[in-house]
Amino acid sequence: MHELSICRAIIGIVTDHAGHGAVRSVNVRVGAMRQIVPDTLVYCWSLVTEGSELRGAQLCVEQVPATIRCRVCGQEHVLDAPIMLCPACDSADVTLVSGDEFLVTSLELEEV
Ligand SMILES: [Zn+2]
Repeated sequence: MHELSICRAIIGIVTDHAGHGAVRSVNVRVGAMRQIVPDTLVYCWSLVTEGSELRGAQLCVEQVPATIRCRVCGQEHVLDAPIMLCPACDSADVTLVSGDEFLVTSLELEEV
């Protein structure tokens, strides 16, 4: 499953940065073009962290809408679906402004 490999990637980033501290929560930002369902991601997170050092750490998912800029009509549009077409003029000559993000934005550690 897509979300499982994403969770494993998050765990890799978190364990690189958390050191020996216990992690209370992990904040991630994902773009809509990644086609990640936040609820599924959180569910997978609880599965893959169960029995690991990250057990109990909360995953907070912030979604970023996909925005495109059309090179033909110059307009910017927030996409409802991950289809790279300008809704105003149907041009496919568009650039993705946002929506491709996948970042761990912050970690919250337990007080030691
Ligand atoms: Zn256009």
